[in-house]
Amino acid sequence: MSSKDRTVALSSGSDVDDISNDIGTMGISNTNEISVAAAACDMSTSKKEMIFSGKMDTSCDQKLEHTKTRDDIDICGTCTDDTAEESCDNCGKEGAKNTCNKCKMVKYCNAACKKKHKSKHKKACERRVAELRDIELFKQPPQKEDDCPICFIRLPLLGSGKKYKSCCGKVICSGCIHAVIIRDTTETAVPLCPFCRVAMFREDETDGGKRIIQQIMKRVDAGDAEAINNLGFYYSQGMYGLPRDFDKALELRLQAAELGHKNAYYNIGNAYLCGRGVDEDMMKAIHYWELAAMKGDAVARHILGAVEERVGNKERALKHFMLAEKEDGYSDSLKEVQDFYSKGYVSKDVYIEALRAYQKYLNEVKSSQRDEAAAAREDYKYID
Ligand SMILES: [Zn+2]
Ligand SMILES: [Zn+2]
Ligand SMILES: [Zn+2]
Ligand SMILES: [Zn+2]
Repeated sequence: MSSKDRTVALSSGSDVDDISNDIGTMGISNTNEISVAAAACDMSTSKKEMIFSGKMDTSCDQKLEHTKTRDDIDICGTCTDDTAEESCDNCGKEGAKNTCNKCKMVKYCNAACKKKHKSKHKKACERRVAELRDIELFKQPPQKEDDCPICFIRLPLLGSGKKYKSCCGKVICSGCIHAVIIRDTTETAVPLCPFCRVAMFREDETDGGKRIIQQIMKRVDAGDAEAINNLGFYYSQGMYGLPRDFDKALELRLQAAELGHKNAYYNIGNAYLCGRGVDEDMMKAIHYWELAAMKGDAVARHILGAVEERVGNKERALKHFMLAEKEDGYSDSLKEVQDFYSKGYVSKDVYIEALRAYQKYLNEVKSSQRDEAAAAREDYKYID
């Protein structure tokens, strides 16, 4: 498995692994916790390879080229009213109040002037729309990862470094979880949730997953986007006694996405890539990855970078890799920047900037408690 695949797989947060490891180490199942970063990623391995190894099939290539030209944009649909008095871009008369609602760049007296000007304006309009879209796409995401609610240290990006607790709906770092498991198992033999002190499930109490589903359903009913996204993952995998149901999985992810869950957008993109619950559609996959990236999902942004690199847009690829690496400490993106530097595509300054940003991220997420957890269990690893 390549390092890229490994990281995507790791951050896919297989909670199946969580269970087996927990049974193996302490006889306690942490099934009410789930790795978070890309908890519900179920992109198929072959599709992952397609993006990262450049083995994208021709139809996908064509679709990607299509994205770049954006010639499907229907321009100047309906013009919107604007109060500013300007001259008409078609006839030159003063008092034009109708603005092109796509690019907001030009004004017209009326629909007739707009229609006459359409063929002249089309190219400029498309260019501006693409520019506006890029401004949004490459903007730094509004907020960073949250801190762990117990140790108040920034949560790591890596899915195995943090777990979602469906008892209280908190995302807790692996350091705090491990510390409490060590302490509680010596005192009472049943570890409690480090945040709300509800007992974690024992493997023999899981009842084929019924209690796990019952617990997460309470959070789902409360409108917890993380829980909804996780339930989507359970359906996509057919876990805890649930049938494998891609339609249901997609429906839940759309619901979580509506609540602003960035990883849900990423997973919807993957569903379109793999044709799960929907028809395969690379354009739509990219659209949802872009939405995820704009919300700050580093894995989605890295994939967008890989897609851009694949079609030869190195500059755009670099922008994505830099953002994923600088904002979220995504190490595979740093490796891509490193690769660009070694091939002479980027300057030493850019490379140094990337290294410094990654070091800053490491300083922010490092803790001795997390180091102890990571040393004790592979699935508590928080830095790769
Ligand atoms: Zn006019
Ligand atoms: Zn326009
Ligand atoms: Zn913590
Ligand atoms: Zn809890």
